[in-house]
Amino acid sequence: SKSLVWFRRDLRTFDHAALHHALRDAVQDGGAVHCAFVFDTDILAGLPRPDRRVRFIHASLRELDAELRQLGGGLIVRHGAAHELIPRLAAELGAASVYVNDDYEPAALARDAHVAALLAADGRALLRFKDQVIFEKSEVLTLGGGVYGVFTPYKNAWLKRLDAQPEAAAPWMIEPYAAGFAAAPALALPSLAALGFDDGPLPAPPGMSGATEAFEAFLPRLSDYGTARDFPQLDATSRLSIHLRFGTTSVRHLVRTLRQMTANGAGGAGAPVWLSELIWRDFYAMILFQHPHIAQQSFKPAFDAVAWEAGIEADALFAAWCDGRTGYPLVDAAMAQLNTTGFMHNRLRMVTASFLVKDLGIDWRLGERYFARQLNDYDLASNVGGWQWAASTGCDAQPWFRIFNPTTQSQRFDRHGEFIRQYLPQLARLEARAIHAPWLAPAEELKACGVVLGENYPAPIVDHAQARQRTLERFAVVQAAQ
Ligand code: FAD
Repeated sequence: SKSLVWFRRDLRTFDHAALHHALRDAVQDGGAVHCAFVFDTDILAGLPRPDRRVRFIHASLRELDAELRQLGGGLIVRHGAAHELIPRLAAELGAASVYVNDDYEPAALARDAHVAALLAADGRALLRFKDQVIFEKSEVLTLGGGVYGVFTPYKNAWLKRLDAQPEAAAPWMIEPYAAGFAAAPALALPSLAALGFDDGPLPAPPGMSGATEAFEAFLPRLSDYGTARDFPQLDATSRLSIHLRFGTTSVRHLVRTLRQMTANGAGGAGAPVWLSELIWRDFYAMILFQHPHIAQQSFKPAFDAVAWEAGIEADALFAAWCDGRTGYPLVDAAMAQLNTTGFMHNRLRMVTASFLVKDLGIDWRLGERYFARQLNDYDLASNVGGWQWAASTGCDAQPWFRIFNPTTQSQRFDRHGEFIRQYLPQLARLEARAIHAPWLAPAEELKACGVVLGENYPAPIVDHAQARQRTLERFAVVQAAQ
């Protein structure tokens, strides 16, 4: 029988669970597999015209179609509400089943349930597969059968399970079943303008080739990852997050490569540290699946009692944070990196998130939404996980009384001010001793370097010591409730 593979956040033709199962079934029963992608207006409606991710998807689809064509298939692209278009396309093609890889975000689960019901009403089936993570939902549980809320024991159980079940990272083969592809008409890809978006630079080389390039460039640096990953000016991390987000690489492929390297004595001390990061990704996907309320509320309900700053002054502080005008150079440089590139280094995500919540007293959800608009790799599970960690409201989070000092963080992680200089050229001539806290430097020294506080660089919008005190008082309600 005929079938349809609906691509969503899995824009590749290798190691792809849904595509593998569809093709294998087609080869067995003499059927044919069509492939489709929908620019879903339900998702696109909320995005700004210059969205970098839409451009990345658009470019990745060209490559996906070319790869599918080499295998004997091709991509059908549609633009509209996916929950209407997919059942309609399945009917047009006479597809008895629609194959998808699972997406664990609450909105995606609701959409898929809706599509499954519409298909079922028409005598068709939605078949779902695990693809995005190594272990999902309830696959890694405590000995007592409970859901983990703390990362380290989860990670240990995850590693143990993978040792016992290495096939969880085995590839889902495509090529041996390529005879199952249905031929497709030439690619009809709507232009970005027709989709309602602006053309512009891509945030990263797109497609599977972009992912392969990033991974190959990273592997020689893997052994130093553990020591170098915290320093934003060093290009020490993989930059694979956008590829994991849109599925232009496969997490199984990354985990397999790491395990093979480790088995061969390669990868050094960095390999297990990097694997841990991939496990954090599984952890947060699992946590969101098990506790979908965390997209809007604190993981720990006691923290919903915290009263955040609100009103005109808070709005102005929030706007200054978004624009990188806080007067704390590392925070401002990080926000400039986010605003101009769509990427932000992990250490800086922690610093800027902590600054918003614990120096400005602003609700983490506002920061989470801002990151959601800006980040190329935006992923609800990881973003909410990271924000609730920084805000101390999450599972296995930073304790609320631990408050990053933005100046100390700057001195530790951008010691010579190289990262700051890259993103804040107006401070480029300041010496390392002045660049982390320019308001403490003598005005003449600043002036000699072309810096006038309040003119070409802001004075700090908040005093960290006072803010710290207010945060301790703000969070005291939680202590009282516990
Ligand atoms: P690497 O250091 O090379 O790590 C490899 C991969 O591991 C990453 O690509 C990512 O998939 C995963 N990973 C690494 N760190 C984490 C982590 N802490 N949690 C979950 N997965 C991780 N990551 C996102 O992918 N999307 C987000 O929206 C996101 N929002 C964040 C918000 C905050 C406040 C914080 C503190 C972290 C957030 N992260 C998010 C996690 C992390 O910052 C990024 O994954 C990482 O910076 C991406 O760069 P990289 O690919 O070079 O990472």
